[in-house]
Amino acid sequence: MDRIRIKNLELYAKHGVYPEETKLGQKFLVDAELLLDCREAGKKDDLTASVNYGEVSHFITAFLTEHTYQLIETAAEQTARALLLQYPLLQQACLCVHKPWAPIGLPVEDVSVEITRGWHTAYIALGSNMGDRESYIRQAVEALDLLEDCRVEQVSTLMETEPYGMTDQDMFLNGALRLRTLLTPHELLDQLHVIEASAGRERKIHWGPRTLDLDIIFYDDLVMCDDTLTIPHPDMENRSFVLEPLRELCPYYRHPLLQRTITQLSIANK
Ligand code: ADP
Ligand code: MG
Repeated sequence: MDRIRIKNLELYAKHGVYPEETKLGQKFLVDAELLLDCREAGKKDDLTASVNYGEVSHFITAFLTEHTYQLIETAAEQTARALLLQYPLLQQACLCVHKPWAPIGLPVEDVSVEITRGWHTAYIALGSNMGDRESYIRQAVEALDLLEDCRVEQVSTLMETEPYGMTDQDMFLNGALRLRTLLTPHELLDQLHVIEASAGRERKIHWGPRTLDLDIIFYDDLVMCDDTLTIPHPDMENRSFVLEPLRELCPYYRHPLLQRTITQLSIANK
């Protein structure tokens, strides 16, 4: 990925834990690295195809002087988020906030916090087999898209499928969507649970009837597993109600563990 760098942008702001800091303010320096594809801008000599570093410098200065945070961690976090929401061409932002006058009481030249944040692509499987199934799914898509840190990019067609696992229950309506998100996998899972709960989802029987089920199938090329989250979603390769909607969205995406494309997994599952 190409990078535009801004170095040692100096500003006066009021971030700090001590009351004097939030009253008097002090000097901060910001380094920003903006990751985006500069190819089109470079070929066409066209600023509208890139991100204007002058504008970004003013944006960072305004943001950090108009807000007050205790921590430079928060100052960096919130500035990175604001930049990513403001400039659609930006894929990632690496921000370093320096606080050279931090009141430490020792001869320290500088302290700083550096973070990298960016957009991720997640695939979410959608399912319902109770009540107005289509309406539950449509509302979930809308609720996800309304989250500031999420953009729904594409939704598959919805298809009727036989119940899986516990087969003595009503037919399912299934689909999938592609999401662009600033959320981490766990933050995303929490949001999916909130949306499931607002659809009246109760977790009574594993694999039992549900108004709404939202599962994270992929998150970039991430492979992870802990007590609450497994990515890629386990067993997805055996579930045509996941594979068929995904085939519409990302037929050439390669499962990071199985090393097969969605199309190959779907053919193997038939
Ligand atoms: P299922 O989707 O398997 O029918 P639930 O929707 O009740 O079951 O989910 C049970 C738990 O599965 C969730 O609370 C969540 O912590 C966990 N889980 C693990 N990996 C994932 C994932 N990739 N997406 C969604 N939930 C997951
Ligand atoms: Mg689930």
